Amino acid sequence: MAGVHTTCPYCGVGCGIRAEVTGERRAEIRGDEAHPANAGRLCSKGTHLGETVGLEGRLLHPMVAGRQAGWDEALGLVAEGFARTIAEHGPDSVAFYVSGQLLTEDYYVANKLMKGFLGSGNIDTNSRLCMASAVAGHRRAFAEDVVPASYVDLDEADLIVLVGSNTAWCHPVVYQRIMAAREKRGTKLVVIDPRRTETCETADLHLAVKPGSDVRLFNGLIAYLADCGALDEKFIARHVSVPPGFWTRLEEGHDLFDVARDCDVSASDLAKFFSLFAGTPRTVTLFSQGVNQSVNGTDKVNAIINCHLATGRIGKPGAAPFSITGQPNAMGGREVGGLANQLAAHMNFENTGDIDRVRRFWGAPNIARTPGLKAVDLFRAVSEGKIKALWIMATNPLVSLPDANAARDALKKCPLVVVSDCITRTDTLDLAHIALPAAAWGEKDGTVTNSERRISHQRRFFSLPGEARPDWWIVSEVARRMGYGAAFAYTKPAEIFREHARLSAFENDGARLFDIGAYAGISDEEYEALAPFQWPARKGERSDPTRLFADGRFPTSDGRARMVEVAPGEERPADPSWPLLLNSGRLRDQWHTMTRTGLSPRLSRHSPEPTVDVHPKDAESFGLKDRALARVETRYGASLYRVRVSEAQRRGELFAPIHWTDQHSSGGRTGRLAQPLCDPVSGQPGFKATPARIRTVETAWRGFLLTRTVADMASTNYWTRVTLAGGHLYELAGDGDAAALAAQLLPQGGERVEAIDHTRGNARWAVLRDGKLEACLFIASDASLPPRDWLIRQLEEHAAPSPLALLAGRPAKPEPDRGAIVCVCFDVGLKTLVAAIADQRLTSVEAVGSALKAGTNCGSCRPAIAKLLNPEKEASHAV
Ligand code: SF4
Repeated sequence: MAGVHTTCPYCGVGCGIRAEVTGERRAEIRGDEAHPANAGRLCSKGTHLGETVGLEGRLLHPMVAGRQAGWDEALGLVAEGFARTIAEHGPDSVAFYVSGQLLTEDYYVANKLMKGFLGSGNIDTNSRLCMASAVAGHRRAFAEDVVPASYVDLDEADLIVLVGSNTAWCHPVVYQRIMAAREKRGTKLVVIDPRRTETCETADLHLAVKPGSDVRLFNGLIAYLADCGALDEKFIARHVSVPPGFWTRLEEGHDLFDVARDCDVSASDLAKFFSLFAGTPRTVTLFSQGVNQSVNGTDKVNAIINCHLATGRIGKPGAAPFSITGQPNAMGGREVGGLANQLAAHMNFENTGDIDRVRRFWGAPNIARTPGLKAVDLFRAVSEGKIKALWIMATNPLVSLPDANAARDALKKCPLVVVSDCITRTDTLDLAHIALPAAAWGEKDGTVTNSERRISHQRRFFSLPGEARPDWWIVSEVARRMGYGAAFAYTKPAEIFREHARLSAFENDGARLFDIGAYAGISDEEYEALAPFQWPARKGERSDPTRLFADGRFPTSDGRARMVEVAPGEERPADPSWPLLLNSGRLRDQWHTMTRTGLSPRLSRHSPEPTVDVHPKDAESFGLKDRALARVETRYGASLYRVRVSEAQRRGELFAPIHWTDQHSSGGRTGRLAQPLCDPVSGQPGFKATPARIRTVETAWRGFLLTRTVADMASTNYWTRVTLAGGHLYELAGDGDAAALAAQLLPQGGERVEAIDHTRGNARWAVLRDGKLEACLFIASDASLPPRDWLIRQLEEHAAPSPLALLAGRPAKPEPDRGAIVCVCFDVGLKTLVAAIADQRLTSVEAVGSALKAGTNCGSCRPAIAKLLNPEKEASHAV
């Protein structure tokens, strides 16, 4: 297939994509076989990107106070508003809140404007919410934010330890790579996670640790390694600084049974893990949000790195600690200094030489000299009236921040809120005074850096629609209007990339590993043709570097890595008012706040409602039934979910997805429940363990609505919406009068048919136009709602079913119910899979694939199929 080589806009795996334009705003998407991150593989989200590139819901014109405006007026108002605020209240009265969705060039320009010219450090990014603790941990251990691993290490490892990472759902292509390594070389897999996620399905061992006990576990491991002589004494002596008294203090209190008790895992499982780690030199420890999103996330990161330094498992094939990033360009943002406490190109505020160096390079008279506010503090400062002008780019903080209701209140009070986005309506955009239409994926052009430090070119393959413009252009135009035109006279991303590369190499004698000076002088044509490469790439070194840290030298002042003494955090005393802990995370087929994946009908089928997972014993204690509605409350807010009773949960813990917004549900926002407590070093919020309670919510009826247009749900107690091809599916629950609801929700005109059963409290309506289904509403006070599949097909295929069949919710000759969709590529449902496995005696994922095609395209559903094949299986412990 021909097409444009680009990259996926979702997770930090950074898969290469080939996009071929097949029509007006239509593109065929394939994995790029030449891209080293994925070698042609894509997960379900990447595979279905083609369903998300239409113009539906796009912001295509600048808006000022809710009315369409010209660019000149909107940019002038932004520039004037920021200039006036700074003049009256000083530079720290303004802020930018940006995103790991920005391209590096966009990020670079935004950071340069705020830190170099507006004179404040107040630019922070939503990456603060996903990997700031990894950054802080790297800086404590290596003095620079450097990820020492590459994906190839996963191919070469004999043991992979996944900590706080549902890799099968959140980084599926990396998971597939791990599976390939297991197949090829028998790599062992250990998962450390409070939940038994699909990632655990094929693991050799799953340690369902108590939330927050990771430091205790890895301190226990390093004590065990010392005890059994598994330390690499030579490596430590030559390459590692160890705090005085570290080993002596480690001798106390790390009895394996005590550690197992504190982590709430069995001592024998813990012993198996320790022994496996001790005996496997080629070990990669891959960690993600379960480690980072914690009030002691930085300590967790260093506890993991300590174990690798102590065994010399770094800088060698198949041996490294590996922080995997959540967003496509979280790493690029770190490189340009998009975090409030970093400067640019891995230079720091702590070093006055760095501040001066960046000042001279940028010719920046007003350079910030102190770090700015980190995300949670930044929004707190907005609430306190200290920040009076805020520009939010490419992110939806009113959904994603912890204590999101407080952030919402803060924005309502802020005198100037500017939002650049590509979507017309998000929870955040609804509060913008000025909305600026940004270019979307497929329209913008620039670079991104993935989790393994690989910089790739994300290319455009559509022209800019309406008046949408790239973020770098928008920021540069505002800078120009504020009087900084000479420093922001960019005309194309290549110019920005060259400047970024030059800064990385500027007065860099090797002290900073982030150096891409090899690309500082590339031509526009070379930039256009840029092939993926890993940094560092110093001048004269265009090819991929040798393995980082292979020589045992680290970018610290003495060249030695630092072990950091870390202690498990204090346990919070139990509070009977909040007897549960709420954890949150991603679903397999959704991304962030559903502004893009929410447009895909196929992706929407996997999890059509916000759910809360509850252990069966907790369900019993709190009177919750599977599929019932429940209200989850914390000190910060309350949200509504559909209950999923699940043995995969630990007792006392709940899990809810992060994706649902006010645009897609009446109450499934999880951000508003999360506590705003942060790690003291990194400023990353502890999303994973908020004290909570839960109670069932009774409603008089349940129902669903299929309709071609977005409906006004103002008077419905509970609703959720997912996209279909040419329509929407709403799940509903409420107490109100069903007939009144039908009058409100169903379109006027057309032929209306109905079936009302007053005795049972059930009612069904359908509206047909020219014999074709326009909308239907089903309400039931018992559990008698039909499966949605057949009705959805009638809507999507513009079929002309009989009114009787419509009201029955099924064809005259009933079809088998497929159940919830597991394989979105081939539309294979749970019930179909279970029946085929039983009837055809299928025993492997491959056999299921041969029979039903499920799992044979993107592969994202393969762990779910594996689970169906082994319904009773705990991780086998066969290590
Ligand atoms: Fe995109 Fe999936 Fe690859 Fe992540 S793993 S970059 S979401 S295709």
